[in-house]
Amino acid sequence: MATQPMAAHPMAAHPIERLDHFMARANAAYYATHDPFADFTTSPEITQVFGEVLGLWAAVTWEAMGRPDRVLLVECGPGRGTLMADALRAAAQAAPAFRAAIQLHLIETSPRLRAAQAAALPAGVAWHDTLDTLPPGPMLLLANEFLDALPIRQFVRRGPEWTERFVQEGQFVEKLSNESAQLLPLPPGSNRETVYGWGEGKATRTQPEIDSPARSSRSDVSPSSPPHPNPVPVPEQEQVLELCEPALTIATTLATRLTRHNGAALILDYGPAHSAPGDSLQALRNGRPANPLSDPGDADLTAHVDFAALAAAARAAGAGAHGPTPQGPFLARLGLFQRSGRLARTQPPAKAAALMQAAQRLAEPDRMGRLFKALCIAHPDLPTPAGFEL
Ligand code: SAH
Repeated sequence: MATQPMAAHPMAAHPIERLDHFMARANAAYYATHDPFADFTTSPEITQVFGEVLGLWAAVTWEAMGRPDRVLLVECGPGRGTLMADALRAAAQAAPAFRAAIQLHLIETSPRLRAAQAAALPAGVAWHDTLDTLPPGPMLLLANEFLDALPIRQFVRRGPEWTERFVQEGQFVEKLSNESAQLLPLPPGSNRETVYGWGEGKATRTQPEIDSPARSSRSDVSPSSPPHPNPVPVPEQEQVLELCEPALTIATTLATRLTRHNGAALILDYGPAHSAPGDSLQALRNGRPANPLSDPGDADLTAHVDFAALAAAARAAGAGAHGPTPQGPFLARLGLFQRSGRLARTQPPAKAAALMQAAQRLAEPDRMGRLFKALCIAHPDLPTPAGFEL
């Protein structure tokens, strides 16, 4: 009797794996097979003015860089290409010399989204899987809702020890593996393989404290902390500490490159202003919160971005770091409302009202204006970039 071929589905039953490995595999499958914009919407999809003001931000920053003849304009995770199309149009109108200097490079791993980007953008785009293959030279980089999709590790404080979360058959299990024991120095006698059975994966994410300043008290009798690049309040028992190693690597790579070749990177995403413990892993399936561990590849998995840790990593590599500053005031300083108003005056009443409502949605504190932040990593000699003035 002929044997059945192995199941070909990329997310077929899988042995136990660390949360970040699970998340990387799940998101690669998700972005390769789904239209993410059926499950969530993003600022550039809400209003054209978002991409336009970021295009003008890039033009102003290019001036501050000394107007190099050629500049790489790079976007990480460009989605449908909407932000970049809007940015290029605004740059062509307001700053044609900047537009003429641009060489366009996109960092995107999904073939499906690369095709959408090609359709939305002019010819001559170069695609890359990672930052590592970008050519040298001055650079301006934009990344909106890119870092939140990168895989995180989660550590849980259990008494005097830290466990790390793994995923097995749709559930969390925690272990003190040999590797995490190396990363997290443990008290004598606790360096052993321990596996805790753990309950169901969460159906929705629990929001960590948003914007609460990091508590300054650090207990001397605390357990040894996970390798976190930034001071973080000591988590309470059973609290979760997250670590996004790829995001920290990207911050360091950008900082090194921008310090050597000049330029600036503008990162917009959601997360607290100060590093804080909390479980922020969330999944959206069919536009609704879902269990992040079930049906991997069928939902978008994200986590809050630790901006303070990124800024610390960038400064440690010699770059300047500006912000994080909340998205609302940032976009307002860049002229979000003036530009929306000017555009609205040329539109029929319904379209005009929609433009103003979209601007409010991006900027109001209880909507996207406060949880979303802007961070700029830049050459250390560049002046404070537009939007980051105090
Ligand atoms: N910036 C867009 C899209 C956000 S969705 C917007 O604001 O609308 C996340 C984007 O990042 C998608 O384009 C996705 O394919 C891409 N992406 C996710 N993980 C990636 C990775 N590891 N490397 C490169 N691109 C990735």
